[in-house]
Amino acid sequence: MTAVLSGKVEIEQVLRDVRALVFDMDGVLYRGNTRLPHVRELLAELDRRGLPYAMVTNNSTRTPAQYAEKLAGMGISTPPDRILTSSLVTRAWLEQQYPPGTRIYIVGMASLQQAILGDGHFAPAESDAEVVVSGADFSLTYDKLRIATLAIRRGAHYVATNPDKTFPSEEGLIPGAGAIIAALVAATDVTPVVIGKPEPAIMLQAAALLGVEPAQVLAIGDRLDTDVLAGQRAGFRTALVLTGVATLSDVDDSHVRPDLVLPNLEPLVDYFREERS
Ligand SMILES: [Mg+2]
Repeated sequence: MTAVLSGKVEIEQVLRDVRALVFDMDGVLYRGNTRLPHVRELLAELDRRGLPYAMVTNNSTRTPAQYAEKLAGMGISTPPDRILTSSLVTRAWLEQQYPPGTRIYIVGMASLQQAILGDGHFAPAESDAEVVVSGADFSLTYDKLRIATLAIRRGAHYVATNPDKTFPSEEGLIPGAGAIIAALVAATDVTPVVIGKPEPAIMLQAAALLGVEPAQVLAIGDRLDTDVLAGQRAGFRTALVLTGVATLSDVDDSHVRPDLVLPNLEPLVDYFREERS
């Protein structure tokens, strides 16, 4: 089957029951530090119609406030409490699973340390940790891997923020959270519980934040294997935009089928302008 861009009738059908939107950021709202076309128009239209939206990212290296600042720098104004990172969702998940005071060792950056240990709810630990959490870490050292390995080998549960093997950088692809998982899996033979996309936790938390049922949410992403899959697992409607990683031929090659395939955000701007006026 050859994938084609979704037409107006299809868009109307899928969006009829949509009451809230969840956006992936990189490849949907911006690329690098450049805002993508139609983003401001779409958000303005959603604001005008009172449709709530949130941004979600697997990236655990920045706080929501840092993301809000990055977006503001590109002319997109979003409050930090509408931005969900895998750090925050990992923290929420840990709170559901473990009692206060649980000893945790973190391989990750300040944003992750702050999200999990910043308020004293959990206790920092090293090789005596009961839980090891890993995320992307631009200051990874052998020592951190050693401590995490010893803790996991002593029976600590292993949790990872997100599975992304690489990060896009100005220089090209560089090691991401998944590369650090690979190192710890090699050293421990233990597979972590993974929190970020394609697992549905981050999407479900976004739906709860927006106060809607999963079936009322449209997830918009640029990747089939993370954004669209996570949206489907959460019970959302899904739209793939071709402004980032995935191409039309990727849709042909994938078993993951989004409800909508759009060249960019413009058809959504048109829909919300016309169909709901
Ligand atoms: Mg993306």
